[in-house]
Amino acid sequence: MGQSQPTHTRKKNSMQLPRAAAAAVDIEPQNASTSNSNVLLEVKGLTAVVTESRQEILKGIDLIIHQGEVHAIMGKNGSGKSTFSKVLVGHPDYEVTGGTVIFKGENLLDKEPEVRCHSGLFMSFQSPVEIPGVSNMDFLRMACNARRSTLGLTELGPLEVLEADLAILDEIDSGLDVDALQDVAKAVNGLLTTKNAVLMITHYQRLLDSIKPTYVHIMENGRIVKTGNASLAKQLEEGGYRAIADV
Ligand code: ADP
Ligand code: MG
Repeated sequence: MGQSQPTHTRKKNSMQLPRAAAAAVDIEPQNASTSNSNVLLEVKGLTAVVTESRQEILKGIDLIIHQGEVHAIMGKNGSGKSTFSKVLVGHPDYEVTGGTVIFKGENLLDKEPEVRCHSGLFMSFQSPVEIPGVSNMDFLRMACNARRSTLGLTELGPLEVLEADLAILDEIDSGLDVDALQDVAKAVNGLLTTKNAVLMITHYQRLLDSIKPTYVHIMENGRIVKTGNASLAKQLEEGGYRAIADV
């Protein structure tokens, strides 16, 4: 069963994001829907190991992101969230051992990291890493313009992220105070259109109060074990991971 399409009513620079039309709390795992023309990213059975140790971190990730959607990935420390985003951008620490990733109709895994970036996949990493062609802090630079000095950022560059078709934001909220968080939320909400999408990784509900996710995924041990709407993040905040286990 495919996921239902939320209504695309989001406007550029709009602060208010509509909730997913009727996303149930329990949504069937997302299945392939390549026939759907507004699929931006389609990840199927993605497995990956740490290049050096061969330790398997990603153990079969399935995820479909359509244009106009905001996806949040939550999960305990060490569940593989950052690894997933780094594998998508082609970080050399990891090697894909199975599965497929189609981005805008093309095989993403075939492309060099700098090509991925220029094809419209933008990443903001939890901690800066060196990848040719990818300036990790571009997004935060823009989002936290007013606070760049306190964040130790250099001069603001062009707002490249506004052109990203898929912005992957790994814990952009970590270490930010409430005001800075609002700036980030404003920037993210401002860049959302019916054509692009955001995949954000966060530990905290507070970011999701400002940036309403269409879908929330819970990651555990290298897999997405649960998908729901924004209320899943609320459940998580109120009851912890135990509250959503085996539900
Ligand atoms: P999360 O972002 O969900 O906290 P990570 O993706 O950072 O999780 O890490 C998942 C697991 O993979 C952890 O056990 C971590 O130690 C391991 N791991 C991730 N990257 C590496 C690496 N480059 N070398 C060795 N182990 C790694
Ligand atoms: Mg992480």
